[in-house]
Amino acid sequence: MGLNVSGASVGAAGSLAADAARDVERGVLTTTVEHMVRWARKSSVWPATFGLACCAIEMMSTTNSRFDLARFGSEVFRASPRQADLMIVAGRVSQKMAPIVRTIWEQMPEPKWVISMGACASSGGVFDNYAIVQGVDHVVPVDVYVPGCPPTPEGLMFGILRLQEKIAQGIPPKYKELELREGRGA
Ligand code: SF4
Repeated sequence: MGLNVSGASVGAAGSLAADAARDVERGVLTTTVEHMVRWARKSSVWPATFGLACCAIEMMSTTNSRFDLARFGSEVFRASPRQADLMIVAGRVSQKMAPIVRTIWEQMPEPKWVISMGACASSGGVFDNYAIVQGVDHVVPVDVYVPGCPPTPEGLMFGILRLQEKIAQGIPPKYKELELREGRGA
């Protein structure tokens, strides 16, 4: 039986590695259904197509060849909320726009996630006035906040990768968490 530098047994690990190598040679991989569903889900998060202000220009840039959001499976912005599972709130949310944002979110199928992109969406930013919602979490439950004014395309992509990590770990969307807290969830 082998020992590694810390003195721990490596015999069992070596045997597992050998088994895994044999499986790969045979073209066989084993996993759980739950793990596979999470992997597929996190690898194909599709955003709804809409933007509210200057942040949306940066959001649009992420799909261009220079940044290539397709590498992470999220370049397919959908024209219908019914085909989208990610809402990126890119820009300030006016009081007039808030009910429309909520309607779009409600039309998205579950499970669904929200990224608040930029200072205005997250807190109203420099627009500390009656016309602008002081944080889109007053309107829809937010899973990931991306800071900046505006956040760079890389910043948004970092936020999408953080969201992918949450999905892969099985962390429920924010709205589910709120439902459970209020005793409404399954
Ligand atoms: S955070 Fe900055 S870039 Fe984004 S919508 Fe507000 S003012 Fe525009």
